[in-house]
Amino acid sequence: MSEVKPMKVAFIGLGVMGYPMAGYLAKAGHKVTVYNRTRSKAEKWIKEFNGELAITPAAAAENKDVVFACVGNDDDLRQVTTGEQGAFSTMSEQSIFVDHTTTSATVATELANIAASKHIGFIDAPVSGGQAGAENGALTVMIGASEDNYEKVTHLVSCYAKMHKRLGPVGYGQLTKMVNQICIAGVVQGLSEALHFAQQSGLDGEAVVEVISKGAAQSWQMENRASTMLNNEFDFGFAVDWMRKDLGIVLDEARNNGSHLPLTALVDQFYSQVQHNGGGRFDTSSLITLLNKD
Ligand code: NAP
Repeated sequence: MSEVKPMKVAFIGLGVMGYPMAGYLAKAGHKVTVYNRTRSKAEKWIKEFNGELAITPAAAAENKDVVFACVGNDDDLRQVTTGEQGAFSTMSEQSIFVDHTTTSATVATELANIAASKHIGFIDAPVSGGQAGAENGALTVMIGASEDNYEKVTHLVSCYAKMHKRLGPVGYGQLTKMVNQICIAGVVQGLSEALHFAQQSGLDGEAVVEVISKGAAQSWQMENRASTMLNNEFDFGFAVDWMRKDLGIVLDEARNNGSHLPLTALVDQFYSQVQHNGGGRFDTSSLITLLNKD
């Protein structure tokens, strides 16, 4: 059996997603250096996985084969790459930067161009699957990259992904993630209205879901969230604040490419109302709270 050669990698951003992803790289035998803005999280990670701690993105990225990031938004990504003490200032020629943050496609292209001028490769690789997917090493990863660069990182991405695919050049990973979020927005609103209707009708929501989840109405949201929605529990992963960031990116891109997204725009406004009601940290299934309140 051929052994995978351990690589020298860095991981920037040990949040809900990045912490376990970096852990899977270490468990696979790669030499991992981590950077996190709040140092205590990096110290905890080192205790658990035995890597090295860096105090800036630049220090983490120096002399690495591949540098990963999973931070918050476009500006955060700019900060850890091209900002003061950013990773691009020290990355070696021919090394590759893999970004797992959900960002605009515009920032991916912008940073890929800067990286190319330094002979650094850039891959946009947003993920789906939530906290559970990250903790179970079972994420779906949507990749925008050159074929060459993709080939060079597939064995690394496989450490925490059950599915990854190159969809086209840089930016196409983010565009695919936007398609993913458009699907989720519509499905969650539909499911919310369906469960609300069931409750108003005096039906047993759990029993209804047991039946219809075996038919054409089935969805991941129904399988994983219907029960908690019926119980008014909204602490199961992807937060409304993150979803609004993502839908903002989607609606900006739709203005650029001329697509019409009336339902997505409407659901974005519903999420804005959830935030206004104090539910920014609720998970995305909390749309139902707008229907159930009276
Ligand atoms: P999170 O728990 O808030 O972690 C964000 C990480 O980025 C933290 O390590 C944070 O450092 C770091 N960070 C943010 N801004 C920074 C900056 N300007 N400079 C340096 N570090 C910075 O978020 P998450 O849930 O892991 O999500 C990360 C990304 O994945 C987001 O783009 C999100 O949309 C996407 N995503 C999340 C999920 C999910 O279910 N959570 C699912 C799919 C995709 P500190 O520790 O100092 O705050």
